Amino acid sequence: MSFRSGIGFDVHRFVEGRPLVLGGITVLSDRGLKGHSDADVLTHAIMDALLGAAALGDIGDHFPDTDPEWKDARSVEMLTTVREKLAHRGYAIRSIDASVICEAPRLGPYRDRMRAELASAVRLDRNQVSVKFGTNEGLGFVGRGEGIASMATVTIEWVG
Ligand code: MG
Repeated sequence: MSFRSGIGFDVHRFVEGRPLVLGGITVLSDRGLKGHSDADVLTHAIMDALLGAAALGDIGDHFPDTDPEWKDARSVEMLTTVREKLAHRGYAIRSIDASVICEAPRLGPYRDRMRAELASAVRLDRNQVSVKFGTNEGLGFVGRGEGIASMATVTIEWVG
């Protein structure tokens, strides 16, 4: 079996006094996301999908939130570490597709910068990385503006 796929999902809660970082890009916002690292929910979903595709466990196994090394860490640097973990096991990343579900702020203007930042973190071309945005139609915790959710799917290939 040379191709494998993985899925990832993550949620972070909004808090005052932190920057909002998504896909490695700081988004203009009066609130950020709560988390041990920079709480980049988009990048976390992608990391979980990549680890899942290689059956290497989940983000909590590799980057425990009790580890001071990852306190306020840039998640795109953790994503680069995930790429290296896969490469050591013979896997190359072929595609990433992710969605961010968020009521506000509007994220569309940041799409291309996020794609470029994520692609560079895993040494892909930008056309191998897709980022999409949607709202939750005012429903649930995302709809109430309490947090942001993200999901991702990836394809990897065993290249030996
Ligand atoms: Mg997370």
